[in-house]
Amino acid sequence: MRIILGIESSCDETAAALVTSERTILAQHIASQDEVHRPYGGVVPEIAARAHAERLAPMIEATLADAGMTLDDVDAIAATAGPGLIGGVMVGLVTAKALAMAADKPLIAVNHLEGHALSPRLADPELAYPYLLLLVSGGHCQILLVEGVGQFRRLATTIDDALGEAFDKSAKVLGLGYPGGPALERLAREGDAKKVPLPRPLLGSAEPHFSFAGLKSAVLRAKQNMPPPVQGCVAGSVVPPAYSDADIAASFQQAAIDCLIDRARRALAGVGPVNALVVAGGVAANTAIRTALENLAADHDLPFIAPPLALCTDNAAMIAWAGLERFERGQSDPLDVAARPRWPLDPDAEAVRGAGVKA
Ligand code: AMP
Ligand code: MG
Repeated sequence: MRIILGIESSCDETAAALVTSERTILAQHIASQDEVHRPYGGVVPEIAARAHAERLAPMIEATLADAGMTLDDVDAIAATAGPGLIGGVMVGLVTAKALAMAADKPLIAVNHLEGHALSPRLADPELAYPYLLLLVSGGHCQILLVEGVGQFRRLATTIDDALGEAFDKSAKVLGLGYPGGPALERLAREGDAKKVPLPRPLLGSAEPHFSFAGLKSAVLRAKQNMPPPVQGCVAGSVVPPAYSDADIAASFQQAAIDCLIDRARRALAGVGPVNALVVAGGVAANTAIRTALENLAADHDLPFIAPPLALCTDNAAMIAWAGLERFERGQSDPLDVAARPRWPLDPDAEAVRGAGVKA
């Protein structure tokens, strides 16, 4: 049995985990920085990096202590080396390098997106390559054909906002705080998805990609144009506005789901045989999205696989697992491996419309 220490610090979760080749998470600590960033309504990179630097080392110590282990018991050390906010990535990667050097263990530089992409295999030993993956998070919205470790074909990506970003920004418009995705989903349960007509960008388009910026702007307009309640004919009575915040939330969520399903259906039609439809990333926590994807998979006679919620949002167990998959294939990285703010899973994928020249 191999044991990998995983470290995650690419955005606003600081995490350490010990994972075995038998798919057991021996111990894991995760500290969310939601409280730290809430006053700013989004993640502030400099503050995130400082928080990682304060929290990571004691967290690794606590993770090892929980499992009753020391670094001597670990076979390799895996850390997110990108993509992500570079200050945070550097904190995690440099910590992993120092530990690898001190304990004389191999270092594995993990692509955070590969962590998300392979996490369903940590949860499900039956899941074999190839599978179609929808990676939907705060920073990413991609459809990928996962053919093996390090073997990805990007079939679609977003030309503007990520899906989680659209949830968060729409939630902000509705005054739901940060991060708003889960709160928006809760509010949507009380609303009527047919009340507010919202656009479905790129629905039915020959282009395979996603777009959510126009939908997000339409949410803002719907909120700004919401008519105020008016005095009714009967004294003291009030006629409510034609729609409520909950209706906007429900209508937004339904529009987002319609776009997601349309794009996923298009990808499934063109991809060839796959073993499953898989969803990963923080937005996979959304129950309405899971249900819609489950139905889509059933339409195509495919199993639908969604990792447990704790594995969907950023965590270190998925980094340890991706490191393990690489370690088992004899891979490791030198101590001078670079931290990468950008690191596409499929470097051969064509640049999308609207993409800048950021390499
Ligand atoms: P990640 O980027 O993978 O850490 O995931 C975080 C993103 O997932 C944020 O944009 C959250 O708002 C979003 N998210 C988390 N839970 C939900 C939910 N229930 N519905 C929609 N979005 C969610
Ligand atoms: Mg993520």
